[in-house]
Amino acid sequence: MARVVITGGAGFLGSHLADALLARGDHVLAIDNLITGARTNIEHLFGTPGFTFVEQDVSNFVWVAGDVDAVLHFASPASPIDYLEMPIQTLKVGSLGTHNTLGLAKAKGATYLIASTSEVYGDPLVHPQPEDYWGNVNPVGPRGVYDEAKRFSEAMTMAYHRAHGVDTRIVRIFNTYGPRMRPDDGRVISNFVVQALRGESLTVYGDGSQTRSFCFVDDEIRGLVALLDSGEHDPVNLGNPNEFTILELAELVLDVTGSSSTIEHHPLPTDDPTQRKPDITRARQILGWEPHVDLRTGIEKTVEYFRSAS
Ligand code: UDP
Repeated sequence: MARVVITGGAGFLGSHLADALLARGDHVLAIDNLITGARTNIEHLFGTPGFTFVEQDVSNFVWVAGDVDAVLHFASPASPIDYLEMPIQTLKVGSLGTHNTLGLAKAKGATYLIASTSEVYGDPLVHPQPEDYWGNVNPVGPRGVYDEAKRFSEAMTMAYHRAHGVDTRIVRIFNTYGPRMRPDDGRVISNFVVQALRGESLTVYGDGSQTRSFCFVDDEIRGLVALLDSGEHDPVNLGNPNEFTILELAELVLDVTGSSSTIEHHPLPTDDPTQRKPDITRARQILGWEPHVDLRTGIEKTVEYFRSAS
């Protein structure tokens, strides 16, 4: 049994992580300032022995009383529309928030895991993306606030590992989807599913030929827990390597929902990566992990969630 602090604990990934760790007997302290997280994601956990929630912004000083075995830093706006709306909070939680939570891990002698992202590869010139690819990021574009904050957080995490001997992990999370995404989150799967269920047009940005590789949340969480339990300090990609164009995704959502919505093209956002697919060789070798849920099955589960949540 371990006591684990999860920042962003009321968010999409943070709340699923809390479920997984509590299920195996760990204690969880979830911290969230609720700017993109939601109490509804964790309300089923209130009253669960070993679960505590604190509403706090980890960009400010973080202190936790008592022993802590692991600190998992998942707090951040994570959808392009969110970090474009909250650019400074995004930069602060990725930089100051990472520094504060690393300080907490160091003080407690705790393992530290930083939720990094495939966005560190920017609009990648290498395909698929292995961890030793340094990326192609525009630091001053609108996405730079997220990409550079996460790149800084990786550098800071390695510095705490090298200089202070903190037992660190770095995960690069590729597009993940499933229950508990917000309907207005703005990411492509939640947008398409909500639009299809409401009979609204599906908003495909650009011609829809750009690609992404989508990982169902249960697979992602299994990988995250395996990484936490490993002794791996170098970055590890966790994502589903099955790659789809956005147009293929739109058609699949229409098929699964049986919706008669049409597809409507909108302008492509600035610096939207043209392709993205993880090379998960390291995750396979080090963690014995790979995703199992195919896109259709995952979309079916996600549709079920949005139907019952609406
Ligand atoms: N996208 C789209 N329609 C939407 C939302 C997103 O076509 O309503 C596209 C977006 O331009 C990008 C891809 O879907 O090419 C994935 O976008 P998302 O915001 O989910 O995540 P990203 O991988 O860009 O961070």
